[in-house]
Amino acid sequence: MDTIKVKAIVLSSADYKEKDKLVTLFTIEHGIMQVIMKSVKTQKAKMKFAKEPFCFGEFLISLPSKIITGVEVEDNFFELTKDIDKFYIACAILEAVRTIVVPGEKNVELFIETLKAIGSIAYNGVNDKYVLVKFLLSIFKSMGYSLALDKCSTCGQKFVGKRYLNLDFGEIVCTGCKSGNCMEISARCHSCFKILSETSYDKLNTIKLAQKSEDEALNVLNINFERRFNKKLNLL
Ligand SMILES: [Zn+2]
Repeated sequence: MDTIKVKAIVLSSADYKEKDKLVTLFTIEHGIMQVIMKSVKTQKAKMKFAKEPFCFGEFLISLPSKIITGVEVEDNFFELTKDIDKFYIACAILEAVRTIVVPGEKNVELFIETLKAIGSIAYNGVNDKYVLVKFLLSIFKSMGYSLALDKCSTCGQKFVGKRYLNLDFGEIVCTGCKSGNCMEISARCHSCFKILSETSYDKLNTIKLAQKSEDEALNVLNINFERRFNKKLNLL
């Protein structure tokens, strides 16, 4: 019997058998792993936290049983539970991760991005929707669906006038290149994409965008997410 040590964040947990929990971890070493936490109700306090979403730390996992035998919690982002809006946005981030990561495939870049995004929602006093917009833009980029911010994806010309999201390909195009299944996006929303993608997580609290542009941005990105990955994120 082997024991491995992983650094991970809990994405979700569900009841399993009578007293156990099936915990989905996003680990830096192995990507997504499903592990078991035994007799959760009788576990000592530290282990109890470890079944909650957002719990981040070092987990000891016994193989091949995949039973968690120990945990060193680094942060459980408890602040998130104090504000329902922040909590939902942070949950959408975990849901997005769960949707795009292929089990068994590691993705260190996404792991780091996820922690930064959740940390800035919990601690930086940022508009939580800005964080989710930035996070989703980065997901599209890493999955090969970069959204064009300056120049039309098709003809390469700078955007003037109207711009559209092509839902079949997940690309932003100009009026001349608009074809098939396209939805118009406002210049305000497009500029929200550009500013947020160019601002680092720790600087997001210094910007203020046109009111409600983040709502339109999130709506557009959620439609694009559903088209690309067949899953609609649950936003309040
Ligand atoms: Zn074009």
